Amino acid sequence: MMILMKREATEEQIQAVCEAIHEHGLESLVLPGGQRVAVGIPSAIPPELRPVLDQHLSAMDGVDQVIHITRPYKLASRDFHPHDTVVRVGRVEIGGGRFAVMAGPCAVESYEQTLEAARAVKAAGAQVLRAGAYKPRTSPYSFQGLQREGLEILRTVAQEVDILTVSEVVDPRDVETAAEYIDILQIGARNMQNFPLLVEVGKSRKPVLLKRSPSATIDEWLAAAEYLLTNGNEQVMLCERGIAPLDRAYVRNTLDINAVPVIKYHSHLPIIVDPSHGIGHARYVPAVALAATAAGADGLLIEVHPHPDRALSDGVQSLNPEAFTQLMAQISAIRAALAPLNAK
Ligand code: PEP
Ligand code: MN
Repeated sequence: MMILMKREATEEQIQAVCEAIHEHGLESLVLPGGQRVAVGIPSAIPPELRPVLDQHLSAMDGVDQVIHITRPYKLASRDFHPHDTVVRVGRVEIGGGRFAVMAGPCAVESYEQTLEAARAVKAAGAQVLRAGAYKPRTSPYSFQGLQREGLEILRTVAQEVDILTVSEVVDPRDVETAAEYIDILQIGARNMQNFPLLVEVGKSRKPVLLKRSPSATIDEWLAAAEYLLTNGNEQVMLCERGIAPLDRAYVRNTLDINAVPVIKYHSHLPIIVDPSHGIGHARYVPAVALAATAAGADGLLIEVHPHPDRALSDGVQSLNPEAFTQLMAQISAIRAALAPLNAK
């Protein structure tokens, strides 16, 4: 529920509305706007209380309108948080005009492979190294990742190369440990609605990259983000990684480029685009990476392997370091070309 105040509402009237909300045992959040103030109720409102509250608040001085929010998220919404969230990871900022590239292999395979990848992506300008230690694969017979050993390799390599890291966590019991080894916790597409995992990652307060499930609507995705936010984690980034495709003969997923402007309009959370899983073939990755950059994504997550033909997972969609270096130059050119035109 959101209480829209009149333009001429006084401080005292706004305060009185907040107190009335508290009298009903609920929290209030004052949302200053350009023209007028709104007061939001971020907590869940018991259904029987809604009409009572509506009647009480509508009749108060200075109140223009009581709006019922029917979307399954509040804290993730721009209505409740008009300004862009900027996620801070070490010295890197993401969101609100700050752009970051996260790149690296699908999986940590060995110390040598991770080191080679980290050096290559850093040299090309990536700020964050991506690599999975826990690999939830479609088949239990596929490579499942080096798990704890993978996390140790990531930490060692990150210190050696001086780069930040993002890696997936799949089990709520691993969150605390993983948070000690890596800088950004990734929640994979298959786990977008793993609620115990969302709660645990929410409590950890570590920056998090929440991937969209290939079958999730925007509402379901933002509602999943809401679990992170309501559990105290404000450092949330969303990641579009492709939705179920119409034509699997040609592409692995369909990158939903629409999600970029739609999320930017409805939410304040940064949106990162993963063109690698989004289309699934290295030859197409640069084109969609550039499209996402031009569309206004806050960053990219790109699979890069020092030797894609030898990769233990997702080699087909992984760029080699040369292709990634060339793509980084194109990304910079797109950003530089648009910057003066985007300036407010
Ligand atoms: C990954 O990033 O390697 C991954 C497994 O992605 P997704 O969860 O989007 O399939
Ligand atoms: Mn992958």
